[in-house]
Amino acid sequence: MPGRLTNMFNKLKAFDLRRPFLHGVQALSEFIYPPECVYCNESLDNYKEMLCASCIGSLDVASEVRVHQGVIDFEHLRHPPNFDTVLAGWAYSPIVSELIHQLKYEQRRRIADYMGCELGAILSSYAAVWGNPVLLPVPLHRVRLRERGYNQSLLLAEKIAHEAGLLVQSRLLLRKRQTETQTMLNATARQKNVGGAFTLESHVNIEGESFLLVDDVVTTGATMDACAEVLKGAGAAKVFGIAISRPGFDRSC
Ligand SMILES: [Zn+2]
Repeated sequence: MPGRLTNMFNKLKAFDLRRPFLHGVQALSEFIYPPECVYCNESLDNYKEMLCASCIGSLDVASEVRVHQGVIDFEHLRHPPNFDTVLAGWAYSPIVSELIHQLKYEQRRRIADYMGCELGAILSSYAAVWGNPVLLPVPLHRVRLRERGYNQSLLLAEKIAHEAGLLVQSRLLLRKRQTETQTMLNATARQKNVGGAFTLESHVNIEGESFLLVDDVVTTGATMDACAEVLKGAGAAKVFGIAISRPGFDRSC
């Protein structure tokens, strides 16, 4: 091909036609659907914002991180928990509950960016002390993953890891059994429900490594306990956890 034609061809290749197209689509969607607060529907200036100033002001933001220690805060489990410490970013509130609901059930993936960024900033002050753990999103069963189209815990983990300068391993921990939703179950039933539901990818050596489990919420700790049991059983030195929030639960139900 003559030199001039080659140059022109290369310039055309370098010009990504998708970019102006995507910008056009975004501008059109902003015109049709102006950005609004995901909680109260107040108008926002742009799509990069998630909540209005009033909702942000009423959020108990992650400045005061909730540290849940194994045997102290999870004594309702049938045995001392297999994980070491769990961090939760926000106190549970109607706004936090709504954000988690929209993230999980209404395809609002951008919420993971917002919350993952905040959680990553929290984690930054723990990461080195915890031996720079590898982040493991709590996996969904493949059937649920197919229904939802994404794992909200993986979206969170990727954002947290980016912010805290850590690595994510999304295929190490697997969910081998589909479990029923935990919402209506008490602590004992939850442990039974998720017991044995997780496994490790075969032929991996995790002896002496530290991990950080990422989930949207931690309630009784049963899911993180089941994941941590697998990891500790395979020789992991430490297993920590991080979640958006820890809803209260009725231990007697
Ligand atoms: Zn609002």
